[in-house]
Amino acid sequence: MNVIECKNLQKEFEGDGTTTVAVNNVNLSFHKGEFTAVIGTSGSGKSTLLSLIGTLDKPSKGKITYDNEEILKKGKNKIADFRFQEIGFIFQQFHLLPTLTALENVLTPLFSRKVPYDKVERAKEVLKQVGLLDKMNALPSQLSGGQQQRVAIARAIVHKPSWLLADEPTGNLDTETGAKIYDLLKELNEQVGCGVLFVTHDPVLAAKANRIITMKDGNVLSDKVGATI
Ligand code: ADP
Ligand code: MG
Repeated sequence: MNVIECKNLQKEFEGDGTTTVAVNNVNLSFHKGEFTAVIGTSGSGKSTLLSLIGTLDKPSKGKITYDNEEILKKGKNKIADFRFQEIGFIFQQFHLLPTLTALENVLTPLFSRKVPYDKVERAKEVLKQVGLLDKMNALPSQLSGGQQQRVAIARAIVHKPSWLLADEPTGNLDTETGAKIYDLLKELNEQVGCGVLFVTHDPVLAAKANRIITMKDGNVLSDKVGATI
């Protein structure tokens, strides 16, 4: 998949008689291989935008096209297949299954899927890519926060997605570990060609990106390519 386009994208949440416009008339395009940061204060709509792009949620108005195809208009199975093929997610809380080893966690996206490669070999390959092959039999509780996030990254890329969507992936990590996680994302972006779209609060981390999108109250305040801070 080469191009993601958000057209007049809008997401509203109803509650207690009020409507929150989490994403307000957003128009953005993303191209294959980009390394993009989304910044903005808490509540500005960053996570909602990422969920919409990742097909985890549906817009209230407007649309998203993936190579001109409106996937969200399709049935649940088609959307799930699309997500499996094209998208990998990383979250602040890692979301590893505590009773599974690192290797087993990385294998989870492949459990119920047919793939044209050996699943265990592929899982080992990505664990090697994130520098954790020697920890493949460790449980999450036996790993540091940075190592757990590396396992989560391996799990996010094991099925060879075109896009990696990361929502504050270093929110639970110290500065130095966080910087290393971003270096790893950049490496994957350059070596595997995975487009990366990441949310962060931290302007220093955002400055590692080639493109910085700033959100405020659901709106895109600025969209700078090749920006430096
Ligand atoms: P950010 O990730 O930038 O902190 P969010 O996208 O999480 O912002 O939220 C944007 C706005 O939408 C906030 O006002 C938030 O309270 C609201 N919001 C997000 N998700 C929901 C939801 N599921 N139900 C109701 N309101 C929501
Ligand atoms: Mg958020």
